[in-house]
Amino acid sequence: MKKIPSLLKIVLLSTLLFTLSEAKQPKLILQITVDQLRGDLPDKFMKKMGNGGFRYLKESGVWYKNANYNYSNTETVVGHTTLATGANPNIHGMVSNVWYDRQRKRLVYNIEDSNYHILSKNADIDDSTEVDSSQALAGTDGRSPANIMVSTFSDELSLFTNSQSKIFSVSVKDRGAVTLAGHNGKAFWFSKTSGEFITSSFYYDKYPQWVKEFNDKKLAKRYDKKPWRLMYDKSKYMFGDSDDNPWEEDYIGYGRVFPHKYGGKESKYFNHFLTFSPAGDELTLDFAKAIIKNEKMGQHDVTDYLAISFSSTDYVGHLFGPSSLEAEDNMLRLDKTLASLFKYVDEKVGLQNTLIVLSADHGAPEAPGYLATLGIKAKWISPLKWNKKPSIKRLEKRFGVGQALIEAFFPPYIYLNHDVIKKNGLDLAEVQKAVAKEIMDIDGIALTVTSSELSNNTLPNTYLYSAALENFNAKRSGDILILFEPHCFANEMDGGVIMATNHGGPWTYDTFVPVIFAGSNLKGKQIFQPIRPNDIAPTLCAIVNAKPPSGSSGKILKKVLNNFYKD
Ligand SMILES: [Zn+2]
Repeated sequence: MKKIPSLLKIVLLSTLLFTLSEAKQPKLILQITVDQLRGDLPDKFMKKMGNGGFRYLKESGVWYKNANYNYSNTETVVGHTTLATGANPNIHGMVSNVWYDRQRKRLVYNIEDSNYHILSKNADIDDSTEVDSSQALAGTDGRSPANIMVSTFSDELSLFTNSQSKIFSVSVKDRGAVTLAGHNGKAFWFSKTSGEFITSSFYYDKYPQWVKEFNDKKLAKRYDKKPWRLMYDKSKYMFGDSDDNPWEEDYIGYGRVFPHKYGGKESKYFNHFLTFSPAGDELTLDFAKAIIKNEKMGQHDVTDYLAISFSSTDYVGHLFGPSSLEAEDNMLRLDKTLASLFKYVDEKVGLQNTLIVLSADHGAPEAPGYLATLGIKAKWISPLKWNKKPSIKRLEKRFGVGQALIEAFFPPYIYLNHDVIKKNGLDLAEVQKAVAKEIMDIDGIALTVTSSELSNNTLPNTYLYSAALENFNAKRSGDILILFEPHCFANEMDGGVIMATNHGGPWTYDTFVPVIFAGSNLKGKQIFQPIRPNDIAPTLCAIVNAKPPSGSSGKILKKVLNNFYKD
């Protein structure tokens, strides 16, 4: 080996030292969440994808291929809040899309806040009440992050820079945006009433001019009287010969086969149908680009943060299942949407100055009907009728209770009537145990566990009990948590919508998600060592030097951090 002259050595060493001490902090952190993207789905359809989307992430990103949530209730708000905070639901408090508020004696939608209202275009009164069935449970249309009990990455970034960082989020779903914007950012979501992107008076007194101008363009109109058509000839698809399956859902006239018609823009379900197709993500992309342009994201002295949650994959998954022609075409179109986003970010900020992180709020269960064709036992359960079961009535008799023992039931939680239990001098733990035992006897139930057992932590150290504990928040979780067996699904969620499939359990098809970091000159790498999506928030904090979010239980991902600070 040739000897390096010592002067050159000094020059090389000092350059190296300079590089090491100089943190290449990203100008923009772009956090993408794909609602219901199971960890294997990008690879499953990668062959037919282009170059700039998932393939770019695969070739140029650090892809954690063994990331799983470790709590039991894998729902949208729970996952988004975990991604935002690095905490589990026992700590961040968003235990379920809906929980029962004992004081107000009603079910509560996770981000509802009666102190605020949906910001109207011209006046400060609401004129765009949402009709999403889970939201219909909310007592108010006001939205805020008040129910999130801990800080988010975006909060910590905000604290670190004394609010100098620009923080924005957008999604079709309100809960997909509010969670990641944290307590100090700005969140926008899609109104299924107006087809525009709206926000709450928590965030603004009036819409910024650029948002008004964006909404005035009425971009949803471009889908007027058009259908969602396949991008390629049917023969090109893995699921090309199985468009019409009996387990797929023909929801409110959207149909089970291509082309899925949106109808006219005046029709009642037009905006709903847009969200059940890649159009929802395309509109979200348009709004995200408008944020980047108008708020000059990534062009400040400090790191800016933009969170985008793409919801279409979830709606398509629920209606048709992840193994369907619709899901396949949706993935290919999501790939195009991502490619368009990355190209835009490259032009405006530069991908070398942007840290991209992509993950999902939960995985994707296969439709029971589809599983059956492969010989895998799967079934639907109708839990909403359980409180009318004769055995529950017998229990009420046994405990001498005149009124209903069960006060509220919203899967996965049963809330007992504490007033009745107290009035009758009964032992809460004993009643919980008796009801839990009755439910446990129902076919398809893997486990019932009571809040007394979880509080006392006297349970065996098994995966299911541990997942139940990670989801247990004493103030919001119910008296009894119900976990279904693998491939058993509740068919009535969010107020009775019947679907092709449903997520929300502790099994790997629901917990397994991709975690991918890209941009910022990261080098392509696939890592199979197990991690949790909770690791994202503390890793982002470490990259920008901020302290970890207040409830975070995640670890700093060294492979990503080392790109910014060497050991
Ligand atoms: Zn869902």
